[in-house]
Amino acid sequence: MTDLLSTPIEFLKGVGPQRAASLQTELGVFTFRDLLNHFPFRYQDRSVFHEIRDIHLVDNYLQLKGKITQMGEIGTGRHRKLTARFEDNSGTVDLIWFQGIQWVKSNLLVGETYLLFGKPKAFNQQWTIPHPELTKWGEQSKELGLQAMYPSTEKLNTKGLHAKGIGKLIQTLLPQIKQHIPEVIPPYLIEELNLVSREQAYVQIHAPKNEVEFKQARYRLKFEELFFLQLELLLRKEIRAKKMKGFIFPELGNLFNRFYTEYLPFELTNAQKRVLKEIRKDFLHGEHMNRLLQGDVGSGKTLVALLTILMGIDNGFQGALMAPTEILATQHYESLRELVKDLPIEIALLTGSTKKGRRLEIHDGLQNGSIHLLIGTHALLEDVVQFSNLGIVVIDEQHRFGVAQRSKMWGKNSVPPHVLIMTATPIPRTLAMTFYGDLDVSIIDELPPGRKPIQTIHRRENHRPKLLQFIQEQIELGRQIYIVYPLIQESEKLDFKNLQEGFDLITDAFPSPQYQVSMVHGKLKPAEKDAEMQRFVRAETQIMVATTVIEVGVNVPNASVMVIESAERFGLSQLHQLRGRVGRGAEKSYCILMTGEKLSKESMKRMETMVMTNDGFQISEVDLQLRGPGDLMGTQQSGVLNLKLADLSRDGQIVSLAREKAREILEKDPDLLLPENSILNQRMRQVLKSRPNWGRIA
Ligand code: ADP
Ligand code: MG
Repeated sequence: MTDLLSTPIEFLKGVGPQRAASLQTELGVFTFRDLLNHFPFRYQDRSVFHEIRDIHLVDNYLQLKGKITQMGEIGTGRHRKLTARFEDNSGTVDLIWFQGIQWVKSNLLVGETYLLFGKPKAFNQQWTIPHPELTKWGEQSKELGLQAMYPSTEKLNTKGLHAKGIGKLIQTLLPQIKQHIPEVIPPYLIEELNLVSREQAYVQIHAPKNEVEFKQARYRLKFEELFFLQLELLLRKEIRAKKMKGFIFPELGNLFNRFYTEYLPFELTNAQKRVLKEIRKDFLHGEHMNRLLQGDVGSGKTLVALLTILMGIDNGFQGALMAPTEILATQHYESLRELVKDLPIEIALLTGSTKKGRRLEIHDGLQNGSIHLLIGTHALLEDVVQFSNLGIVVIDEQHRFGVAQRSKMWGKNSVPPHVLIMTATPIPRTLAMTFYGDLDVSIIDELPPGRKPIQTIHRRENHRPKLLQFIQEQIELGRQIYIVYPLIQESEKLDFKNLQEGFDLITDAFPSPQYQVSMVHGKLKPAEKDAEMQRFVRAETQIMVATTVIEVGVNVPNASVMVIESAERFGLSQLHQLRGRVGRGAEKSYCILMTGEKLSKESMKRMETMVMTNDGFQISEVDLQLRGPGDLMGTQQSGVLNLKLADLSRDGQIVSLAREKAREILEKDPDLLLPENSILNQRMRQVLKSRPNWGRIA
């Protein structure tokens, strides 16, 4: 059987070579199949009629029945327009055409009754309908269901392929290929979930008779899309587990035990213990660990990372810890070195600003095995950085690294090292399931005891005097204060000015020698940055004025107030991350969001969310609603977002269902060998073949 769906689009009646070329370049539609998968973005209900006197209530496309009572032209040349008056029993409305005037003029009859479809606009306080669609009454199609509107482009418009023109093509296509749309989901699953068939779904999404039909169709096609994505992710995970051997760390050795019993600064939380057990289990099975560690800001992920690395070193392997910024890498280096200072462990720091001499020393130390743990930034990824025996890699604050970078770490050893990925702030569940769907996930859902919740307050400029007074009171209580300014690349100059003004304002209000103020920003050299940071860490300064360079990871437990200037310019997860810099000691802490008077609805929602909750998991869900998955995960990750219908910010339930079903199936039939799963088997083989390197990419 020839595959009808693969027929080039050119051969569809009404297309031809020219339109085909435009469909290809503009919409990526090459074949019948592609056109079938070009879905409507909206439907217009053609079963409802309106009256002209209600136009102002509708504010959308509407359908009228009435007569044309006048027609006339105004303007000349390019400014030529055709106007007409349209009347029903309730009133009159103006119609206007800017193009195709000749054609319209010779086809419309004054006095004739028409079915009108269009979207009114107010011109000079007068309702006017530009370019309405008019059909002689009696000649309209019998089925007044929902009319599909398709995404189009300007260029296609000029070829007559506007939102409805494309619809016409699809209506031509559907009857021809209906019988050739194969089912891809096994019958037992269709029945269990009460899905419409694939053929039915395509008909109903392009030509629904009513809302129920289109909803059924959309649900079915979304499920299909997400189900195959989940099946692929789970299969990859399964295949990797089977194929790829991981190092076994049999010993809970000397270093781990000594650290745990003698040097652990505090009892681990139950959540930390549980996660360590999950990791330890991975290390015993000879499988390769590829695990995502999710935990809110301040939940103690670093300590889990250290203990994990110790398990590796105890078994004769080296470890690496990669962080997204120099400040954070340095901070990890210092705090981990302090924690293990009485243990025989050699730790090195490698960043962009490591001096050449030291760099060479480090390269040597890694290759001869004298360095046990390397901490650093992207610098770790360079090819010259070679280990003698890398066994475990921890990547902190994952969302800043891309998949390609992750997989590069894998290549640092002949057997890939175990990988633990830690997120800075929680990711919404549906995104974790999709973007990290082939990873195992551990969650720290508990903060260390004794933390007082941070009180978050939203204030405007008129409150500044009170703010300064509050800062002073806190300093008198012995606390330290962060004041953070936004930094956006394009307007770096302006931001720097804001920062400098802020700094001046603060030093005026808090003059030396009584008060000391630090300032950290992107223009400082790393060494200067570090020196300023250290002054604050040692409590030699009471106030730290900074840009977001301090965003992730810094830890100064005595700091109890976080003031965020122009808070409306920050995203939610950034605000939450910044807030997480305080509330680390035992003192009651505050986060003060300073904003301008007028806020957009979305900014207001962000402020309200911050004030309402400290829970990073909850915040991430709101963030997803506000920003959508693409923005949240960054462009590096957007490959996974090639979803045509499903929307990860809205279809969480379908994502969960799809994952659950995919898992159930693979549990019963891991290799998809049962006869009832043969269609899945076929499809997955194709998918996996078409993804090069899938096995090695985390
Ligand atoms: P994050 O998960 O944001 O990376 P950190 O690892 O920086 O958090 O830990 C935040 C703070 O909590 C640090 O000061 C750390 O020493 C402390 N901490 C971690 N675990 C515990 C614990 N079990 N009990 C008390 N404090 C802890
Ligand atoms: Mg951290």
